[in-house]
Amino acid sequence: MRRHLFSVTVVLLLVGVGLAFTQQRLPAEAADDMVARIRAEGLQRSRAMAMYRTLTDEIGARLTGSPAHKRAANWARDRFAEFGLANPHLEPYEFGRGWELEQMSVAMTEPRYFPLIAYAEAWTPSTKGVITGRAVYVGDKSAAQIQAMAGQLRGAIVLTSLPIAEWIERDRPQPGLDDKPVATGNPALPGARSTTPANDLMPILQRAGAAVALRPSAYRDGTVGVLGNRNTATDSVPSIIVAGEQYNILTRLAASGHPPALRVELRARSIEDDRNSYNVIADIPGGDPALRDQIVLVGAHLDSWHTASGATDNADGAVAVLEAARILEALGTAPRRTIRVALWSGEEQGLLGARAYLMQHLNTPAARDQLDVYINDDPGSGKTLGFYMEGNQAAKAIFDRWLTPLKDLGATRNVIEGIGATDHVPFNEMGLPGFNVIKDFDAYDVRTRHTNADFPERMSDDELRQSAIFMATFAWQAATANEKIPRGK
Ligand SMILES: [Zn+2]
Repeated sequence: MRRHLFSVTVVLLLVGVGLAFTQQRLPAEAADDMVARIRAEGLQRSRAMAMYRTLTDEIGARLTGSPAHKRAANWARDRFAEFGLANPHLEPYEFGRGWELEQMSVAMTEPRYFPLIAYAEAWTPSTKGVITGRAVYVGDKSAAQIQAMAGQLRGAIVLTSLPIAEWIERDRPQPGLDDKPVATGNPALPGARSTTPANDLMPILQRAGAAVALRPSAYRDGTVGVLGNRNTATDSVPSIIVAGEQYNILTRLAASGHPPALRVELRARSIEDDRNSYNVIADIPGGDPALRDQIVLVGAHLDSWHTASGATDNADGAVAVLEAARILEALGTAPRRTIRVALWSGEEQGLLGARAYLMQHLNTPAARDQLDVYINDDPGSGKTLGFYMEGNQAAKAIFDRWLTPLKDLGATRNVIEGIGATDHVPFNEMGLPGFNVIKDFDAYDVRTRHTNADFPERMSDDELRQSAIFMATFAWQAATANEKIPRGK
């Protein structure tokens, strides 16, 4: 017994000496050591690809308000719990009507049989059963001309747009590679056009009792860009997007005087029993009594559009956050500040999840003061190259230091420019430092973003590992730095 007590005492003494030694080391050395451990964990024991497969192959597209999104949110919460994070949970906010596609097919049946690459816009109502008939082309007609066609439009399949003449040809410039300022943000893309603007055209079609409206996407080679409006009235004309080249065939046949015959079936389900959507939140609690109430927030949106697998927009970003959380927990060392992970929903409908978080958690100056920084992983696919610094020079100087040890993993530079249109923006609007990663944009604009071609093959295992190591490293650095990230420009 005495012998046992003696051993315990010796062990405790050794642990105490070890802790004292750790605490006495310079913070920079300790940080270097942790960066190496993060990298080793992320490279040698990665679960990133396995989680990416689950999100994209098994769960698939995760439209906000759909059962699939809720499945993904529950699954992500369970992963955070499995990894050992504190208080993993879903945070509801009011979203509105959900929507899920149950069945759809569009085919030309005359002058020959030809199945079409076509997708329902999200939140569009169902067709009234199977619709067949000659297509009616109104893309080049004025509102008055269309109104005069009311007799032809009742129960009709309507081609609402001009043929596509201008295509989406190139990705946005890559800001992480050159040492010069660049235009950042979502590029303006060409799209469907009609002589009568869609806002005027669709009510005319509805009054005329049209059965379904078809319009083209401007992506090339069978790629179809599809969004949707959650405020679509349940009695509006069902709306379907067709691959641009195929839509052009339909309009050429119509112009030849022999309009094609089509067969259209669209069955969708509105979800009214749960009008909430959910953010997924979990913590790695801070260990420094003076700093642990401060939050380093790391996030990405888990929701996607509905026609493919939501792989590059944004399962890759969500996996970076999930795997970063796993890595940091696996290291077993408490950060000084609390690291909070967040997987938002409603991003695609207007950054709704992030805005709800701000309303729920950061609605007082005192609460906002406790937020150290928000870092987000969204637009683009491939490796993470650095951060968009939103004009914040002081923060950039710090992020530049933290980027250096990641350069051999493919990080290149932080840019002073900002990028809009994703979940860090509401934080910036509240005067809080929020930054998004710079990713490769290989085929992101021309092929995968918001399209039927957003599949997981665009991300490699190496890129997923690198993105997670990148997020974990920056989260750790921010959570252990002596000072908070400076506010403002
Ligand atoms: Zn998106």
